[in-house]
Amino acid sequence: MLRSAHGVMRIYLDHNATTPPAPAVLDLTARVARDTWGNASSVHHFGQQAKALLDEARGQVADLIGGDAAEVVFTAGGTESDNAALRGVAESMEPSGRRHLVTTAIEHEAVLNTVKALARRGWRTTVVPVDSSGIVSAEAVAAAVGEDTALVSVMHANNEIGTMQPLAEIAPIVHARGALLHTDAVQTAGKVPVDVRRLGVDLLSLSAHKFYGPKGVGALWVRRGVRVAPFITGGRQERGRRAGTENVAGIAGMGLAAALAQRHLTTEGPRLTALRDRLEAGVLSAVEGAARNGAADPRVPNTTNISIEGIESESLLIGLDLEGIAVSSGSACSSGTLEPSHVLKAMGLPHARTLGSIRFSLGGSNTGAEVDRVIAVLPALVSKLRALTRR
Ligand code: PLP
Repeated sequence: MLRSAHGVMRIYLDHNATTPPAPAVLDLTARVARDTWGNASSVHHFGQQAKALLDEARGQVADLIGGDAAEVVFTAGGTESDNAALRGVAESMEPSGRRHLVTTAIEHEAVLNTVKALARRGWRTTVVPVDSSGIVSAEAVAAAVGEDTALVSVMHANNEIGTMQPLAEIAPIVHARGALLHTDAVQTAGKVPVDVRRLGVDLLSLSAHKFYGPKGVGALWVRRGVRVAPFITGGRQERGRRAGTENVAGIAGMGLAAALAQRHLTTEGPRLTALRDRLEAGVLSAVEGAARNGAADPRVPNTTNISIEGIESESLLIGLDLEGIAVSSGSACSSGTLEPSHVLKAMGLPHARTLGSIRFSLGGSNTGAEVDRVIAVLPALVSKLRALTRR
Protein backbone atom coordinates (compact mmCIF):
# COMPACT_ATOMS: atom_id res chain seq x y z
CA MET A 1 0.00 0.00 0.00
CA LEU A 2 1.13 3.52 -0.69
CA ARG A 3 -0.12 6.62 1.06
CA SER A 4 -1.28 9.26 -1.45
CA ALA A 5 -0.71 12.99 -0.92
CA HIS A 6 -4.06 13.14 0.93
CA GLY A 7 -3.17 10.32 3.30
CA VAL A 8 -5.41 7.73 1.60
CA MET A 9 -3.94 4.23 1.27
CA ARG A 10 -3.84 3.18 -2.35
CA ILE A 11 -2.61 0.28 -4.46
CA TYR A 12 -0.17 1.61 -7.04
CA LEU A 13 0.21 -0.61 -10.10
CA ASP A 14 1.61 1.92 -12.57
CA HIS A 15 5.36 1.63 -12.01
CA ASN A 16 6.11 1.73 -15.75
CA ALA A 17 4.76 5.29 -15.77
CA THR A 18 6.88 6.27 -12.80
CA THR A 19 8.07 4.93 -9.46
CA PRO A 20 7.95 6.59 -6.06
CA PRO A 21 11.44 7.86 -5.22
CA ALA A 22 13.20 5.70 -2.62
CA PRO A 23 13.38 7.39 0.81
CA ALA A 24 17.20 7.22 0.78
CA VAL A 25 17.20 8.88 -2.65
CA LEU A 26 14.96 11.68 -1.40
CA ASP A 27 17.22 12.19 1.63
CA LEU A 28 20.32 12.33 -0.53
CA THR A 29 18.91 14.72 -3.15
CA ALA A 30 17.70 17.08 -0.42
CA ARG A 31 21.06 16.93 1.35
CA VAL A 32 23.02 17.52 -1.86
CA ALA A 33 20.76 20.40 -2.96
CA ARG A 34 21.31 22.03 0.43
CA ASP A 35 24.98 21.28 1.10
CA THR A 36 26.70 20.54 -2.21
CA TRP A 37 25.39 23.32 -4.41
CA GLY A 38 28.73 24.20 -6.03
CA ASN A 39 29.10 24.29 -9.80
CA ALA A 40 30.87 21.07 -10.74
CA SER A 41 32.97 22.96 -13.31
CA SER A 42 34.48 25.24 -10.64
CA VAL A 43 38.03 24.47 -9.54
CA HIS A 44 37.53 25.54 -5.92
CA HIS A 45 36.40 23.38 -3.02
CA PHE A 46 32.66 23.89 -3.64
CA GLY A 47 32.98 22.85 -7.28
CA GLN A 48 35.18 19.87 -6.54
CA GLN A 49 32.74 18.55 -3.93
CA ALA A 50 29.97 18.65 -6.54
CA LYS A 51 32.24 17.04 -9.13
CA ALA A 52 33.04 14.20 -6.72
CA LEU A 53 29.31 13.45 -6.46
CA LEU A 54 28.96 13.41 -10.26
CA ASP A 55 31.91 11.02 -10.50
CA GLU A 56 30.42 8.69 -7.90
CA ALA A 57 27.01 8.68 -9.62
CA ARG A 58 28.63 8.06 -13.01
CA GLY A 59 30.31 4.97 -11.57
CA GLN A 60 27.07 3.74 -9.99
CA VAL A 61 25.10 4.12 -13.23
CA ALA A 62 27.89 2.48 -15.25
CA ASP A 63 27.92 -0.47 -12.82
CA LEU A 64 24.17 -1.01 -13.27
CA ILE A 65 24.63 -1.57 -17.01
CA GLY A 66 28.12 -3.07 -17.19
CA GLY A 67 29.69 0.01 -18.81
CA ASP A 68 32.58 2.29 -17.92
CA ALA A 69 31.98 5.51 -16.02
CA ALA A 70 33.60 7.55 -18.82
CA GLU A 71 30.95 6.27 -21.23
CA VAL A 72 28.00 7.69 -19.25
CA VAL A 73 26.49 11.05 -20.23
CA PHE A 74 23.89 12.47 -17.83
CA THR A 75 20.74 13.93 -19.40
CA ALA A 76 17.36 15.25 -18.30
CA GLY A 77 15.63 11.87 -18.67
CA GLY A 78 14.79 9.04 -21.03
CA THR A 79 13.24 11.25 -23.69
CA GLU A 80 16.33 13.42 -23.87
CA SER A 81 18.61 10.36 -23.96
CA ASP A 82 16.67 8.94 -26.91
CA ASN A 83 16.79 12.29 -28.70
CA ALA A 84 20.50 12.66 -27.99
CA ALA A 85 21.23 9.18 -29.35
CA LEU A 86 19.21 9.49 -32.55
CA ARG A 87 19.91 13.13 -33.38
CA GLY A 88 23.51 12.95 -32.19
CA VAL A 89 24.38 9.90 -34.30
CA ALA A 90 22.41 11.23 -37.28
CA GLU A 91 24.32 14.51 -37.22
CA SER A 92 27.70 12.85 -36.81
CA MET A 93 26.97 10.33 -39.59
CA GLU A 94 25.58 12.86 -42.11
CA PRO A 95 28.95 13.44 -43.84
CA SER A 96 29.42 9.67 -44.29
CA GLY A 97 26.50 9.52 -46.73
CA ARG A 98 24.62 7.04 -44.57
CA ARG A 99 21.14 8.56 -44.49
CA HIS A 100 18.92 5.71 -43.33
CA LEU A 101 17.45 4.98 -39.89
CA VAL A 102 15.72 1.81 -38.75
CA THR A 103 13.42 1.46 -35.78
CA THR A 104 10.43 -0.65 -34.73
CA ALA A 105 6.69 -0.03 -34.64
CA ILE A 106 6.51 -0.54 -30.86
CA GLU A 107 9.05 2.06 -29.73
CA HIS A 108 8.19 4.80 -27.26
CA GLU A 109 7.17 8.14 -28.81
CA ALA A 110 10.54 9.54 -27.72
CA VAL A 111 12.10 7.40 -30.46
CA LEU A 112 9.24 7.24 -32.98
CA ASN A 113 8.64 10.98 -33.10
CA THR A 114 12.37 11.71 -33.27
CA VAL A 115 12.66 9.34 -36.24
CA LYS A 116 9.70 11.15 -37.85
CA ALA A 117 11.40 14.52 -37.24
CA LEU A 118 14.58 13.24 -38.91
CA ALA A 119 12.50 11.91 -41.84
CA ARG A 120 11.23 15.45 -42.36
CA ARG A 121 14.87 16.53 -42.61
CA GLY A 122 15.52 14.11 -45.46
CA TRP A 123 16.46 10.91 -43.66
CA ARG A 124 15.12 7.68 -45.13
CA THR A 125 13.45 5.69 -42.37
CA THR A 126 12.19 2.13 -41.99
CA VAL A 127 9.84 1.07 -39.22
CA VAL A 128 10.07 -2.69 -38.65
CA PRO A 129 6.68 -4.33 -37.93
CA VAL A 130 5.92 -6.84 -35.18
CA ASP A 131 3.45 -9.68 -34.86
CA SER A 132 1.00 -10.33 -32.02
CA SER A 133 3.85 -11.54 -29.77
CA GLY A 134 5.12 -7.96 -29.45
CA ILE A 135 8.64 -9.21 -30.13
CA VAL A 136 10.60 -7.87 -33.07
CA SER A 137 12.28 -10.61 -35.09
CA ALA A 138 15.99 -10.33 -35.83
CA GLU A 139 15.22 -11.46 -39.41
CA ALA A 140 12.82 -8.53 -39.89
CA VAL A 141 15.53 -6.14 -38.68
CA ALA A 142 18.07 -7.80 -40.99
CA ALA A 143 15.73 -7.26 -43.94
CA ALA A 144 15.47 -3.55 -43.10
CA VAL A 145 19.17 -2.72 -42.57
CA GLY A 146 21.13 -1.73 -45.67
CA GLU A 147 24.55 -0.41 -46.63
CA ASP A 148 23.38 3.18 -46.09
CA THR A 149 21.90 2.56 -42.61
CA ALA A 150 23.47 4.80 -39.98
CA LEU A 151 21.57 3.71 -36.87
CA VAL A 152 19.12 1.05 -35.73
CA SER A 153 17.06 1.77 -32.61
CA VAL A 154 15.31 -1.17 -30.93
CA MET A 155 13.97 -0.87 -27.39
CA HIS A 156 15.12 -3.37 -24.76
CA ALA A 157 11.64 -3.89 -23.29
CA ASN A 158 8.34 -2.42 -24.34
CA ASN A 159 6.74 -0.10 -21.79
CA GLU A 160 3.14 -1.21 -22.49
CA ILE A 161 3.39 -4.98 -22.68
CA GLY A 162 6.83 -5.63 -21.16
CA THR A 163 8.17 -7.88 -23.92
CA MET A 164 11.95 -7.94 -24.29
CA GLN A 165 13.59 -7.65 -27.67
CA PRO A 166 16.39 -9.95 -28.96
CA LEU A 167 19.16 -7.32 -28.96
CA ALA A 168 22.03 -9.79 -28.71
CA GLU A 169 20.77 -11.41 -31.94
CA ILE A 170 20.18 -8.06 -33.64
CA ALA A 171 23.55 -6.46 -32.77
CA PRO A 172 25.79 -8.59 -35.03
CA ILE A 173 23.40 -8.08 -37.96
CA VAL A 174 23.51 -4.30 -37.52
CA HIS A 175 27.29 -4.22 -37.09
CA ALA A 176 27.89 -6.44 -40.12
CA ARG A 177 26.38 -3.65 -42.23
CA GLY A 178 28.51 -0.98 -40.52
CA ALA A 179 25.60 0.63 -38.65
CA LEU A 180 25.23 1.44 -34.95
CA LEU A 181 22.68 -0.03 -32.53
CA HIS A 182 20.85 2.09 -29.95
CA THR A 183 18.50 0.69 -27.34
CA ASP A 184 15.97 2.42 -25.14
CA ALA A 185 16.48 0.50 -21.88
CA VAL A 186 14.25 2.79 -19.85
CA GLN A 187 11.98 -0.14 -18.91
CA THR A 188 14.70 -2.70 -18.18
CA ALA A 189 17.43 -0.86 -16.27
CA GLY A 190 17.00 -1.70 -12.60
CA LYS A 191 14.41 -4.42 -13.35
CA VAL A 192 16.49 -7.08 -15.05
CA PRO A 193 20.26 -7.46 -15.44
CA VAL A 194 21.43 -5.17 -18.24
CA ASP A 195 24.93 -5.63 -19.64
CA VAL A 196 25.83 -3.35 -22.53
CA ARG A 197 28.72 -5.57 -23.67
CA ARG A 198 26.65 -8.75 -23.64
CA LEU A 199 23.82 -7.03 -25.50
CA GLY A 200 26.32 -5.70 -28.05
CA VAL A 201 24.70 -2.26 -28.27
CA ASP A 202 26.53 1.01 -29.02
CA LEU A 203 24.20 3.41 -27.20
CA LEU A 204 21.70 2.84 -24.38
CA SER A 205 19.12 5.18 -22.81
CA LEU A 206 18.17 5.20 -19.12
CA SER A 207 15.75 7.17 -16.96
CA ALA A 208 16.11 7.52 -13.17
CA HIS A 209 12.43 7.86 -12.30
CA LYS A 210 11.68 4.36 -13.58
CA PHE A 211 13.89 2.82 -10.87
CA TYR A 212 12.96 4.85 -7.78
CA GLY A 213 15.18 7.80 -8.67
CA PRO A 214 14.24 11.43 -9.25
CA LYS A 215 12.30 12.67 -12.28
CA GLY A 216 14.00 14.73 -14.95
CA VAL A 217 17.31 12.85 -14.74
CA GLY A 218 18.60 10.20 -17.10
CA ALA A 219 21.69 8.97 -18.84
CA LEU A 220 22.89 7.95 -22.26
CA TRP A 221 25.59 5.32 -22.31
CA VAL A 222 27.79 5.75 -25.40
CA ARG A 223 30.30 3.02 -26.18
CA ARG A 224 33.85 4.36 -26.23
CA GLY A 225 34.78 5.34 -29.79
CA VAL A 226 31.21 6.02 -30.98
CA ARG A 227 30.86 9.54 -32.32
CA VAL A 228 27.78 11.45 -31.22
CA ALA A 229 27.38 15.13 -32.10
CA PRO A 230 26.54 17.24 -29.03
CA PHE A 231 22.79 17.42 -28.68
CA ILE A 232 22.87 20.50 -26.47
CA THR A 233 25.69 22.85 -27.42
CA GLY A 234 27.35 25.23 -25.00
CA GLY A 235 29.95 24.57 -22.30
CA ARG A 236 32.25 21.58 -21.97
CA GLN A 237 30.14 19.66 -19.44
CA GLU A 238 29.73 15.89 -19.95
CA ARG A 239 32.86 15.82 -22.17
CA GLY A 240 31.25 18.35 -24.49
CA ARG A 241 28.36 16.03 -25.28
CA ARG A 242 25.68 17.68 -23.17
CA ALA A 243 26.27 21.29 -22.22
CA GLY A 244 24.75 23.02 -19.20
CA THR A 245 25.47 23.14 -15.48
CA GLU A 246 24.74 19.68 -14.11
CA ASN A 247 21.76 18.85 -11.90
CA VAL A 248 24.08 17.53 -9.19
CA ALA A 249 21.35 16.65 -6.66
CA GLY A 250 19.30 14.78 -9.26
CA ILE A 251 22.32 12.99 -10.68
CA ALA A 252 23.50 11.94 -7.20
CA GLY A 253 19.95 10.62 -6.60
CA MET A 254 20.07 8.67 -9.85
CA GLY A 255 23.42 7.17 -8.84
CA LEU A 256 22.07 6.00 -5.49
CA ALA A 257 18.88 4.68 -7.12
CA ALA A 258 21.05 2.70 -9.57
CA ALA A 259 23.12 1.23 -6.72
CA LEU A 260 19.99 0.29 -4.75
CA ALA A 261 18.33 -1.25 -7.82
CA GLN A 262 21.43 -3.32 -8.50
CA ARG A 263 21.54 -4.51 -4.90
CA HIS A 264 17.88 -5.64 -5.03
CA LEU A 265 17.87 -7.02 -8.58
CA THR A 266 18.27 -10.70 -7.76
CA THR A 267 15.57 -10.69 -5.08
CA GLU A 268 13.11 -8.18 -6.57
CA GLY A 269 13.05 -9.79 -10.02
CA PRO A 270 11.72 -13.20 -8.88
CA ARG A 271 9.43 -11.61 -6.26
CA LEU A 272 7.78 -9.37 -8.87
CA THR A 273 7.58 -12.18 -11.42
CA ALA A 274 5.68 -14.31 -8.90
CA LEU A 275 3.34 -11.45 -7.96
CA ARG A 276 2.75 -10.48 -11.60
CA ASP A 277 2.03 -14.08 -12.59
CA ARG A 278 -0.40 -14.43 -9.67
CA LEU A 279 -2.18 -11.25 -10.77
CA GLU A 280 -2.26 -12.28 -14.41
CA ALA A 281 -3.51 -15.81 -13.75
CA GLY A 282 -6.07 -14.49 -11.25
CA VAL A 283 -7.49 -11.88 -13.62
CA LEU A 284 -7.55 -14.25 -16.61
CA SER A 285 -9.50 -16.85 -14.65
CA ALA A 286 -11.79 -14.49 -12.70
CA VAL A 287 -12.83 -12.25 -15.60
CA GLU A 288 -14.57 -13.80 -18.57
CA GLY A 289 -13.29 -12.50 -21.89
CA ALA A 290 -9.90 -11.41 -20.53
CA ALA A 291 -6.74 -12.10 -22.53
CA ARG A 292 -3.09 -11.21 -22.11
CA ASN A 293 -1.55 -9.07 -24.83
CA GLY A 294 1.89 -10.07 -26.11
CA ALA A 295 4.15 -13.01 -25.38
CA ALA A 296 4.55 -14.29 -21.83
CA ASP A 297 8.32 -14.54 -22.33
CA PRO A 298 10.79 -12.95 -22.46
CA ARG A 299 9.19 -10.17 -20.45
CA VAL A 300 10.24 -7.79 -17.69
CA PRO A 301 9.11 -9.24 -14.34
CA ASN A 302 6.68 -6.51 -13.36
CA THR A 303 4.39 -6.01 -16.37
CA THR A 304 1.19 -7.54 -17.66
CA ASN A 305 -1.16 -6.07 -20.23
CA ILE A 306 -4.66 -7.52 -20.35
CA SER A 307 -7.58 -6.76 -22.64
CA ILE A 308 -11.11 -7.27 -21.40
CA GLU A 309 -13.87 -7.90 -23.92
CA GLY A 310 -16.74 -5.44 -24.09
CA ILE A 311 -14.96 -2.86 -21.94
CA GLU A 312 -13.44 0.50 -22.74
CA SER A 313 -10.23 0.65 -20.78
CA GLU A 314 -10.60 4.28 -19.73
CA SER A 315 -13.87 3.47 -17.91
CA LEU A 316 -12.23 0.53 -16.17
CA LEU A 317 -9.25 2.68 -15.21
CA ILE A 318 -11.57 5.22 -13.59
CA GLY A 319 -13.57 2.46 -11.88
CA LEU A 320 -10.39 0.97 -10.45
CA ASP A 321 -9.16 4.38 -9.36
CA LEU A 322 -12.39 4.86 -7.40
CA GLU A 323 -11.50 1.57 -5.64
CA GLY A 324 -8.06 3.01 -4.82
CA ILE A 325 -6.24 1.00 -7.50
CA ALA A 326 -3.98 2.87 -9.96
CA VAL A 327 -3.30 1.27 -13.36
CA SER A 328 -2.92 2.65 -16.86
CA SER A 329 -4.94 2.09 -19.99
CA GLY A 330 -3.66 1.24 -23.43
CA SER A 331 -6.04 3.61 -25.16
CA ALA A 332 -6.31 7.33 -24.72
CA CYS A 333 -9.19 9.69 -25.38
CA SER A 334 -8.30 12.05 -28.18
CA SER A 335 -10.82 14.59 -29.52
CA GLY A 336 -13.76 12.65 -28.10
CA THR A 337 -12.84 9.26 -29.58
CA LEU A 338 -10.82 6.46 -28.05
CA GLU A 339 -7.43 6.09 -29.71
CA PRO A 340 -5.87 2.65 -29.33
CA SER A 341 -2.23 2.34 -28.34
CA HIS A 342 0.17 2.31 -31.29
CA VAL A 343 1.83 -0.76 -29.77
CA LEU A 344 -1.29 -2.94 -29.67
CA LYS A 345 -2.28 -1.65 -33.11
CA ALA A 346 1.16 -2.56 -34.49
CA MET A 347 0.72 -6.06 -33.03
CA GLY A 348 -2.35 -6.44 -35.25
CA LEU A 349 -4.85 -6.97 -32.42
CA PRO A 350 -8.54 -6.52 -33.30
CA HIS A 351 -9.74 -2.94 -32.78
CA ALA A 352 -12.10 -3.82 -29.90
CA ARG A 353 -9.29 -5.60 -28.08
CA THR A 354 -6.95 -2.61 -28.44
CA LEU A 355 -9.60 -0.38 -26.83
CA GLY A 356 -10.07 -2.62 -23.80
CA SER A 357 -6.50 -2.99 -22.60
CA ILE A 358 -5.20 -2.32 -19.10
CA ARG A 359 -1.55 -2.29 -18.06
CA PHE A 360 -0.64 -3.46 -14.59
CA SER A 361 2.98 -2.65 -13.71
CA LEU A 362 4.14 -3.77 -10.29
CA GLY A 363 6.91 -2.50 -8.06
CA GLY A 364 8.57 -2.43 -4.68
CA SER A 365 5.53 -1.53 -2.57
CA ASN A 366 3.23 -4.24 -3.93
CA THR A 367 2.22 -7.30 -1.92
CA GLY A 368 0.29 -10.52 -2.45
CA ALA A 369 -2.65 -9.07 -0.51
CA GLU A 370 -2.83 -6.14 -2.95
CA VAL A 371 -2.79 -8.46 -5.93
CA ASP A 372 -5.59 -10.52 -4.37
CA ARG A 373 -7.64 -7.38 -3.78
CA VAL A 374 -7.38 -6.45 -7.47
CA ILE A 375 -8.46 -9.95 -8.48
CA ALA A 376 -11.40 -9.70 -6.06
CA VAL A 377 -12.54 -6.24 -7.20
CA LEU A 378 -12.23 -6.65 -10.95
CA PRO A 379 -15.03 -9.12 -11.89
CA ALA A 380 -17.83 -7.06 -10.30
CA LEU A 381 -16.47 -3.87 -11.81
CA VAL A 382 -16.30 -5.44 -15.26
CA SER A 383 -19.89 -6.76 -14.95
CA LYS A 384 -21.09 -3.30 -13.91
CA LEU A 385 -19.38 -1.63 -16.87
CA ARG A 386 -20.66 -4.26 -19.29
CA ALA A 387 -24.20 -3.75 -18.02
CA LEU A 388 -23.86 0.01 -18.49
CA THR A 389 -22.64 -0.30 -22.09
CA ARG A 390 -25.45 -2.80 -22.91
CA ARG A 391 -28.14 -0.34 -21.87
N1 PLP B 1 11.27 5.27 -23.22
C1 PLP B 1 10.43 4.41 -22.62
C2 PLP B 1 10.40 2.99 -23.06
C3 PLP B 1 9.59 4.85 -21.60
O1 PLP B 1 8.75 3.99 -21.01
C4 PLP B 1 9.65 6.22 -21.21
C5 PLP B 1 8.73 6.73 -20.17
O2 PLP B 1 7.58 6.34 -20.09
C6 PLP B 1 10.56 7.07 -21.87
C7 PLP B 1 11.34 6.55 -22.85
C8 PLP B 1 10.67 8.50 -21.50
O3 PLP B 1 11.42 8.67 -20.31
P1 PLP B 1 11.31 10.04 -19.48
O4 PLP B 1 9.98 10.03 -18.84
O5 PLP B 1 12.43 9.95 -18.50
O6 PLP B 1 11.51 11.15 -20.44
